[in-house]
Amino acid sequence: TETPPPPRARAEIDLGALRANVRTLRARVAPRTQVMAVVKADAYGHGAVRCARAALQAGATWLGTATPHEALALRAAGLRDVRILCWLWTPGDPWGAGIEADLDMTVSGLWALSEVTEAARAVGRRARIQLKADTGLGRNGCQPADWAELVGEALKAQQDGLVQVTGVWSHLACADEPGHPSIAAQLEVFRTMLAYAEKEGIEPEVRHLANSPATLTLPETHFDLVRPGIAMYGVSPSPEIGTPADFGLRPVMTLAASVALVKHAPAGHGVSYGHHYVTERETTLGLVPVGYADGIPRHASGRGPVLVGDKIRTVAGRVAMDQFVVDLGGDTPAPGAEALLFGPGDRGEPTAEDWARAADTIAYEIVTRIGSRVPRVYL
Ligand code: PLP
Repeated sequence: TETPPPPRARAEIDLGALRANVRTLRARVAPRTQVMAVVKADAYGHGAVRCARAALQAGATWLGTATPHEALALRAAGLRDVRILCWLWTPGDPWGAGIEADLDMTVSGLWALSEVTEAARAVGRRARIQLKADTGLGRNGCQPADWAELVGEALKAQQDGLVQVTGVWSHLACADEPGHPSIAAQLEVFRTMLAYAEKEGIEPEVRHLANSPATLTLPETHFDLVRPGIAMYGVSPSPEIGTPADFGLRPVMTLAASVALVKHAPAGHGVSYGHHYVTERETTLGLVPVGYADGIPRHASGRGPVLVGDKIRTVAGRVAMDQFVVDLGGDTPAPGAEALLFGPGDRGEPTAEDWARAADTIAYEIVTRIGSRVPRVYL
């Protein structure tokens, strides 16, 4: 049994909503297209192991992580019979452990190929690798100019029994901006790089390109597998793409806190560091015991919305490390009353997208940064 969470704050994780979202995403892609549940960064703050299991129950067939350590942690937690792709390797990372754990390991350049082949020799087993192409994102992945050499070396390593190339893939830069010209350009470059690799003799099991916005809106990018992250958590990739509800997706995380203290304050009372908020009239102030150490963006000082009772209140003054204040305008909820920072919105609470707007950021950052001091409670 889990220890009950302290009353200060909790992130409720609705695994039923996550399963429903995965089924919704599955229904958006062709039956032959597989769904990889992206569970990096502790499943965007939702808890990697629990979310991975729920996604697999709902029809995902692959898991995706950024670092090899995240992937190895999933194996260690007992997720043994599922393919796991990880894509963010740094020189010196544990390729050997990745081979022993049957990971699919992304290779973006010759340095990585050389480290993985050396590890395969040492372990005495073939490594499963996927070649990543930089089709225009300008981040990780192999440039078109270096592709022929990487493909050639990977084929040699495959003939030597050191690797098996299981995939060819890439990542889109602007899939969340409908109609952006880079989308068609990247798709074209991907097709060309893929065709070259296949002509040279690579037979990838999976070819893939699509993140959440592409999964939702760009069927031509789906190929053999899609890699949704944010959509699975019921959060919108961008306002231009639409709201989660537009796609039948339901937010998975609700961030709730208890009002720790309610007190009367006279007019003209400065609130929180720097006194950036000063009460205009006699009022009541409520203390919400979460702060930037818990992932509440300090940039939302004076702007972040919170539902207390049946009213949306705004963060008064600065968000501090562990707490912030809301002006309750004379209301006196009992200490311990619920303050809902964000959730699906059914009860009138704000959404992660509302907090993203208040903090001038993207909703990805809002959920992902909720800190480890906030217990996750699984529904
Ligand atoms: N694929 C890769 C390579 C990623 O880095 C990410 C996350 O940034 C995703 C897929 C999932 O993206 P999204 O959360 O937009 O679906």
